[in-house]
Amino acid sequence: MFGRFAPTPSADLHLGNLRTAVVAWLTARASGRGFLIRIEDLDQPRLPQADTIAARQLADLATLGIDHDQTVVRQRDRTDRYVAALAGLDGLIYECFCSRKDVAEATRAPHGATAHYPGTCRHLSPTERDRRRRIRPPAWRINADAAQMSVTDLLHGQYSATVDDFIVRRADGVFSYNFAVVVDDGLQEVDQVVRGEDLLESAPRQAWLAHQLGLPVPNYLHVPLVLATDGSRLAKRDRSASLDGLGTTGISASAVLSHIASSLGLTQPGEPVKLPELVERFDPTALPRQPWLVDPSSWVTSDR
Ligand code: GLU
Repeated sequence: MFGRFAPTPSADLHLGNLRTAVVAWLTARASGRGFLIRIEDLDQPRLPQADTIAARQLADLATLGIDHDQTVVRQRDRTDRYVAALAGLDGLIYECFCSRKDVAEATRAPHGATAHYPGTCRHLSPTERDRRRRIRPPAWRINADAAQMSVTDLLHGQYSATVDDFIVRRADGVFSYNFAVVVDDGLQEVDQVVRGEDLLESAPRQAWLAHQLGLPVPNYLHVPLVLATDGSRLAKRDRSASLDGLGTTGISASAVLSHIASSLGLTQPGEPVKLPELVERFDPTALPRQPWLVDPSSWVTSDR
């Protein structure tokens, strides 16, 4: 069984992504699991930069000492698997002709202020579907029937949500993140999902989908975010928080690893460390529950 790290190649990994990758690797290794890296490039198949960025992401992970056990897979090479998995959901999925604007307007309705898809296309007649198909290609949604789903997270405990009729395949044919991630984790024998806390709210719908596909539900650990000291999110595009950007200000990769390790309570501040040495000290349940507030510019002086 495996743990994994699954970056989207839209920009260089920032401190938050790197820290999550470190936690994912340590959680897998400390529990005797293998470790996989998967490039989630479904959304950018035609973006020439995606390959370049993916290569830089892999290089950064290797620099921190994050190794992996199998060839890195790319989601854009796995369409056949998604097509096959979707066929298994026949009867549960339906065509949706709503534009983003339609959904936004419908969900802004005075009653039930919910962002969930309101089910507009769930029960269209065959004639109506035919008519609409001639106007625009449909996306595919899954009928979750407002299922209640609960997952167990190593840091957050039980986390429950109502599953919405989420999109499994977009109108342009691209499979959705929520669909592909579940199929891939299932097929790749990933039973330990460690990722950023921003994805905790997606876990119930993904666990529910795993059930529908006959796949086992993984264990989850959602890692608290890394924030700037004013509480704002680190943007992926913020070069100053990438390994390369930090390097240009004189902060080495080993210093970054040391800061990450001390933020996780695994080392004393400034203690030099190699990733494998941390496996024995690592206890996922002892991880900090609060976001890590960082100002990397303060490291420049403290590290010299
Ligand atoms: N590809 C997603 C991201 O880069 C992570 C997906 C996951 O770990 O489930 O945010």
